[in-house]
Amino acid sequence: MSESAPSEGPFEPLGIGGKLTLGFGALATVTLLVVMLAFAAGRSATEDIDLTEGVRGPASLASAQAQASLLRMQLHVRGYLVLSDPVDVQQYHAARQDFEKRLASLQAMSGSWSEEDAVKGVAELTATYERWVKLPQQLFDLHDNPLKNRPALRLARVQVQALRVQILDEVDAVIGIQKTREATPQNRELLADLLGFQTSFDAMTTNLMAYATSGELGFKLGYGPQLATNAAIWNTLSVKHGALSADQRARLDVIAQQRAAVADLALQIVSILNGEHAYEDLYLYRTQVAPQAEVLLGLLNRVTARQQAQLQTGLARARHSLAASRVQTATGGVLAIVLGVVLVFVFRRHIVAPVQRLTQTAERVAAGDLSARAAVESHDEIGVLATSINTMTQRLVETIAHLETVFAEAQRAKDAAEVANRAKSTFLANMSHELRTPLNAVLGYAQILQREPGLSAREATGIETIRRSGEHLLVLINDILDLSRIEAGRLDLYPDPVELRGFLRSVVDTIRIRVERKGLRFSLDAAADLPRAVQADEKRLRQVLLNLLDNAVKFTDRGSVSLRVACLASDGARTVLHFEVEDSGIGIAADHLESIFQPFEQVGELQRRLGGTGLGLAISRQLVRLMGSDVQLQSVPDQGSRFWFDLDMPVATLVELAEPAPRRIVGYRGEHKTLLIADDVSGNRAVLADLLVTLGFGVIEVDDGQQGVDKALQLHPDLILMDMLMPVMDGLEATRRLRQVPALAAVPIIAVSASASDADRERSLQVGASAFLAKPIEFNKLLKHIGQLLQLTWIHESAPDEPEPIGADAVAALIAPPAAELEILHRLAKIGNMRSIQHRADHIDTLGAEYHPFAQRLRELAEGFQSRALLALVQACRERHTSG
Ligand code: ADP
Repeated sequence: MSESAPSEGPFEPLGIGGKLTLGFGALATVTLLVVMLAFAAGRSATEDIDLTEGVRGPASLASAQAQASLLRMQLHVRGYLVLSDPVDVQQYHAARQDFEKRLASLQAMSGSWSEEDAVKGVAELTATYERWVKLPQQLFDLHDNPLKNRPALRLARVQVQALRVQILDEVDAVIGIQKTREATPQNRELLADLLGFQTSFDAMTTNLMAYATSGELGFKLGYGPQLATNAAIWNTLSVKHGALSADQRARLDVIAQQRAAVADLALQIVSILNGEHAYEDLYLYRTQVAPQAEVLLGLLNRVTARQQAQLQTGLARARHSLAASRVQTATGGVLAIVLGVVLVFVFRRHIVAPVQRLTQTAERVAAGDLSARAAVESHDEIGVLATSINTMTQRLVETIAHLETVFAEAQRAKDAAEVANRAKSTFLANMSHELRTPLNAVLGYAQILQREPGLSAREATGIETIRRSGEHLLVLINDILDLSRIEAGRLDLYPDPVELRGFLRSVVDTIRIRVERKGLRFSLDAAADLPRAVQADEKRLRQVLLNLLDNAVKFTDRGSVSLRVACLASDGARTVLHFEVEDSGIGIAADHLESIFQPFEQVGELQRRLGGTGLGLAISRQLVRLMGSDVQLQSVPDQGSRFWFDLDMPVATLVELAEPAPRRIVGYRGEHKTLLIADDVSGNRAVLADLLVTLGFGVIEVDDGQQGVDKALQLHPDLILMDMLMPVMDGLEATRRLRQVPALAAVPIIAVSASASDADRERSLQVGASAFLAKPIEFNKLLKHIGQLLQLTWIHESAPDEPEPIGADAVAALIAPPAAELEILHRLAKIGNMRSIQHRADHIDTLGAEYHPFAQRLRELAEGFQSRALLALVQACRERHTSG
């Protein structure tokens, strides 16, 4: 991906923070707007509902209730008019009070109304009511005052009655006069007429008054005939007018006038009763109370209708507000969602996608594609990040290039060092081989010569010096070889099951002679809880312990040397063992505590340095480090030193356990065996032949590989010892050829080499060797291999617990001390004085190196308190002396 110029988008001048703030700010604004609109709409709806609930509702209720009260008032007014029950009046007043209360509340409410005509409506209602409310009282008053209430009654009671009384009184006076006149038939007839008139007039006016009082139709119908009867009689009297006295006539004239007035009143009464004013209260009710009440009801109706309409309007407005709010909220919500979606797309495009591309680039770089570059798409943080990634990648490329150069140089240097190292190793290996070959002969013959009887003391000392010097040289060669292998990292450990106590005993046995020679005390402190066997490289562990013990003895002149082994931890599978070598010797100065672990580093007196190489501690430390630990040291000058190390090792089981260390071999049982020794150095052959013949083997010697093959084909030996480096044909080739011969394929071949590297071992085993041994040959190892390969049963020196009569061969292998010495030993052996025998053995050691094996044997038997074996040995030697 190539770097491209940042594209200019709408957001370009902004950073990621700015973009996010802008986007979410817009979203928040829209949301806020929606919320505000919804809130405003809700509030307006609430206000409308509140107004409706608080004003319009009560107003229309009050006006409806006022209507009801008004109707009740009307009802009770009417009721009173009809039934004249005073309860109606009471109820009228209750309804009136209720009405006035409603009206008052309407008035109060109208104060808060905004509509002018509605307010006017209430004012008009109030004014109309104030006018109307006086009418019912007038009505009640009229109703309670019948004369005022009924004009017909009033006419009858007041005027008709007065006229009637006057007329009847006048008629009575006329009749009285008549009665005083002469009783002529005319006068009597006249009197009868007068009496008839009086009766019919009374009946007629009584009927008229009853009619005026009750208005009943029966009275009205009765009045007509009575009036006709009365008029007929009146007409008769009028006809007979001349027959009357003047007084009578005068009186009748008055009567005539009054009677006319009665007739007029009668007409008025009929007219009243037939007209509207028969009852004034009813008239008032009909003409004013009811119509005005109708007006009031109409006004109230209007108020109610208006308030209802307002209520409807309020509710409609609230509903509308809510609907509007719904629409606004929905629209706002949709808008916010749309904005959100737009933001998502914008952010995806401008933030997520660039980050993803950046991540892909980073992953490619992480996966090793250093050509990957991020596109710088913007000026924001992502752009900065892309630039940074590119810069980092570029730096990485440069750094890697630099490192590669450095590495190549280092590799070259390493290769050169390895070449040098290999050259050194090869040189050391060759040197060691070159030195070992003659040394093998030197040491072998030193050992053989030491066995020669009749050596002079000078010769014996000379040979012993040769042997010791050879051994020292060998140690030095081995140490240098070991150190160079360790330094080259080519020394491997070969852990095998090691029986601990046997191992420690053999280490102690090796060092004990030297300890005792120096008159030091020695102690082995092996803890009781030590595991029976551990998995360890026995050879290397022995090397370390012997080195430390060797030093301890070497640098201690009096006092003691001790080896302590303790178990620090054990879980059945593994164990941590503590090895410690302590002496009471010269100690080491504090400033040398580290340096003595350096190769060739020796401190202290020159005399003591001569005995060592200065390599022991260096090798020991390296070996212990290989075993996963380190050698620790504590030392106080003139008081002594303490070296220790702790090893974590697997515990070995009994099955894995190797054979306990064999006792010294003196021969073998069974068939006679012949061995072929192929070695170009005659000294080496001689040493081996010397040893093997002593043990009863037949020996064939050849001095190159070709001869080895020929002789083997010819003589069929039981086992072949093949030196690897030989002229004509080397051991490797000879082994390879022998392995191709079917008849010899099963014959064991032990490869022997002076260059004791692991590679040599590998090579020889590859071509078919059955075992490998390094020169100078350790006899015990050689015998172990021969025994295994030929499946021999060895004859050992008698074992401590089952002493067997010492074999003639074994006795023959030992050079016995002079006869006088044997006599002393014989005496001591018979009385079983082991301590004295040990002292004697030390003494014999000083007589000559050739007696060393004998003295050593004596010590071993004495230490083991094997008195019978001791006696047998001494006797055998005495017999040999006397016979030889
Ligand atoms: P060397 O072969 O000389 O013993 P080492 O590497 O084993 O070589 O020891 C190096 C030196 O450390 C010795 O020369 C000696 O000066 C000192 N040294 C080692 N062990 C002891 C000891 N137990 N007491 C005093 N000095 C010791």
